[in-house]
Formats: sequence, structure tokens, C-alpha cells
Amino acid sequence: MTSDGSKPGLDPSDWQEFRAAAHDLLDACIDRLASASEHPWQPTPEEVRATYALAETGGGMKDPAQLANDLRDSVLPYGTGNTHPRFFGWVHGTGLAEGLLSEMVAATMNANCGGRDHGTIYVERAVIDWTRRVMGFPESSSGVLVTGTSQATVIALQAARLRALGADMRTKGQNGRWLTAYAGAGAHNAARKAVELLGLGHENLRRIPEGDAGLDLDALREKIAEDRAAGAIPFAIIGTAGSVDFGRFDDLNALADIATDEGLWLHVDGAFGAWTRLADSPWKELTDGIGRADSLACDFHKWMYVPYDCGLCLIRNEDEHRAAFAARPSYLAAQDSGLAGGDPWYCDYGIDLSRGNRALKVWSAIRAHGPDGLGRAITDNCRRAAQMGELVSSTPGMRLMAPVVSNLCVFTADETLSPDAQSALNSAIAQKLQLSGEVVFSTTLAQDVTCLRAAITNHRTRPEDIELSIAAVVREAAASRT
Ligand SMILES: *Cc1c(COP(=O)(O)O)cnc(C)c1O
Repeated sequence: MTSDGSKPGLDPSDWQEFRAAAHDLLDACIDRLASASEHPWQPTPEEVRATYALAETGGGMKDPAQLANDLRDSVLPYGTGNTHPRFFGWVHGTGLAEGLLSEMVAATMNANCGGRDHGTIYVERAVIDWTRRVMGFPESSSGVLVTGTSQATVIALQAARLRALGADMRTKGQNGRWLTAYAGAGAHNAARKAVELLGLGHENLRRIPEGDAGLDLDALREKIAEDRAAGAIPFAIIGTAGSVDFGRFDDLNALADIATDEGLWLHVDGAFGAWTRLADSPWKELTDGIGRADSLACDFHKWMYVPYDCGLCLIRNEDEHRAAFAARPSYLAAQDSGLAGGDPWYCDYGIDLSRGNRALKVWSAIRAHGPDGLGRAITDNCRRAAQMGELVSSTPGMRLMAPVVSNLCVFTADETLSPDAQSALNSAIAQKLQLSGEVVFSTTLAQDVTCLRAAITNHRTRPEDIELSIAAVVREAAASRT
């Protein structure tokens, strides 16, 4: 005992008291998930935010129930609202009840997944190997779980750069060599950030014009030839499987052919769209050829519905993956047996040394629902997007701004207005419906109009939710005319 009578260390002084508080909080969390359809996004009130302030001196709460109650009352209600069935904004996953179970176990184990020989490393291996098989990558592949596709893109392009420049890139750096990469005009900002972070400069990420069928293949070939003639070293093509604005897919087989002909690395951004691999026809075919890529970035936290955060960088050739990242100082040396044994150590496959247990929630989702259950939800999301597209097309005044290819629907509420007036109306409707808690659309620019945009990666969405959402837009558009 310490001088004030409390136990040394930071464990609860009374486990029974802690147990009771934890059970109550678990019930509150389950209640919250079970009633997700009653809890849309709501702004966090000023007086609630004020309670988040932390003191720089003093002791903590002695009673675990007090902390549990604060978590329940002041934090739990104020999420992004993406657990609600009519949340279609940006590309947000919706979470799974199994996440609650796996996060509880992960927090209890508190494993550092950067390396060493322990159970969670084997779980991560199982998750990566499952994804490799689903995506059609060969056994020679390797992977690493990361925060998301943004980080996965940096890792993949670093491996691609190493192939282009050779091993001395790690000692000498870029060394004056001029590298160029290629992506469709609608490729995600993550690609731009990655080339900036690697010091390549985003002008050297060449944007290739694209249409509904993905990036223009002739334009891609011409640009590569032009850059080579000018003295650049073209090193990577970034294909998109599911573009963030319209849910478009590049022709991945054609990109793989070009990459082979030109000797370039093919990276695929499949953040959400890669998971059409689990869907029924015709959506599954959107990702034909994905298994021919040199690397793939995808997220479990979007269209696999797994709680934030978890993405994957998958690389076709493990040697190339390790060549770009492996570097262990002596204090991290591997041993033949014991805790410092085991292989792989994930710190040799990416940026992080200390790593949380991201694998368990993914593994739990796959265990609980199977590829069939997850695939059914993904297929249903595509059907719901098609349903929304049909409703938009059959509503006078509304107009689809791009074909509905997968799970995205982009439209304008009143095409009879000028482009500026349409933009103002669509923005106003998005905000109004977010604040009313009816539906969350986000917005994007299409044909110079700010449009309403629904990305349906939500396993709670039912056909009635789509009807309600479009009816709300119709009502708001009509109200604006009076
Ligand atoms: C979300 C997204 C990204 C970025 O992924 P994060 O997981 O948010 O880092 C990249 N590409 C596409 C197509 C996306 O939708």
C-alpha cells in the first residue's frame, strides 16, 4: 500500500467495482448499436465539449463508474453518425457488432504487433493470407496491415521506386533521378500525397484523362513515351478500383498489360472497390485483373464494415517488399526461438515499429460473417445505389451526373436551375438533411456543379431508407422553389 492507502500501480483498486462499471458500459454500447437506426449524427454541444478539457494537475477519478458514465453520456452519443442506416457521406464504413468483442480482447492483450512471436501475429498472417487469396495474388506475396489506404499507398510506391532505382536508393536517395507515375484524373488524393511524401513532387504524378470506363489507355501510353523521351524514368501506374467521386473502375487487365509492356509497377488503389471481388455479377467483374497488380491498397474499415482503422498494403513479391523496408538495429535482432523468434516481423514491411492489433477485428468479421455474408452485404449496397439511381432518373427535375457503376450515386436535385443555383441548392440540401438527422449525403463536383453524392458502404441500409432519402431531397428542392 502507498501512503494514501491506495495500491501501487495503475490497476483498479477494486476489481469488483471495475467489473460492475464495465458491464454497465458494455450494455450501453450494445444498446447503442442495437438502436443504431435511432441515432443519426448530431452536433456536439458546446457544454459537452467543455467537459472534455483535461487538468494538468491533480489526481484522477477514484470511482470507475464515474469514468464509465462519462464515456457513456458525454462521448458515446457524439460520433460521426456513420452507424446510422441513412449515412451515405464520403466513404464511411458502418462498423460491426463483432468489433466490440474483438476490440475488448485486443485492449486486454495489448499486444505490440511490430514483431516477435505471439498469437496476434499469426492472426494477422491469417488475415493477410485470406485477402491475398480473395484478390488472386500469388503465394509469393506479402502484406502489412496499416491505418488505411493512404499509408498503404506510400508503402507500395516506395517499393515500386526501389525496383526502378535499385538498392542504392536506400543509401543514396533519389540522387537526381527524375521519376514519373501515372494515374487517372479521378484518382484519390492519397496518391498525390504519397508522391509528395516520397519527395517526387506531385507534378510528376501524371493525371491521365478518364471516362466512365476508367482512364484513357492510349493517352497513358502516349504520356509514358513522352516522359521517357524527355529523360524521365516512368516507374508506376496507379490504377483505381472504385474512384472516390463516381465509383469508377479502370480496366485493370489492360493496365496490367501496359505495365508489363513498359516494365512499370502496377499499383491498384482499391480502397473500397477491391471488395467487389466478394460481390455477385456484374459487380464482381469490375475488379477482373486485380490479381495481376504488383501491389494493392485496400481498406477493411470502409466496405468490409470493420471498425476504424484498418487498411492493407499487399505486395506481389515479398522480396521486393522487404527490400524496401527491412532494417533492424541490434536491439531488435531475431532469435531462433523464444519471444524474439517468429517470422515475419511486420516492422520489416512498413513504416511503424510499434503497431496495434488491427488484425483481430478483421479476423472476427470474416469469422462471423464469412465471405458469403460480407459479399451479400456488398452486393446489396450496389443494388441500393442502383435503386437510388433509378429513383433519381424517374424524378422530374433530378438528374444523375454519372452512371451508377458500383455503390456511388451522384446527382443534382434540380437540373432546371443554372449551374451556380444547382450548386447552392445541393449544398444547402446536404447541410439541411445532415442537421435534421434524416440522411447524410456529402457533395462533390461533377460537370461544374456541386452535386449530392451517396457512397453506400452501409450494411444497415434498406430499400425504404433509399426511398426516404430521395423523398427528403424532393421535399427540400420543392421547398426551395416556394
Ligand atoms: C478512402 C480512400 C482512400 C484513402 O484511404 P484511407 O483509408 O482513408 O487512408 C484512397 N483511395 C480511395 C479510392 C478512397 O476511397
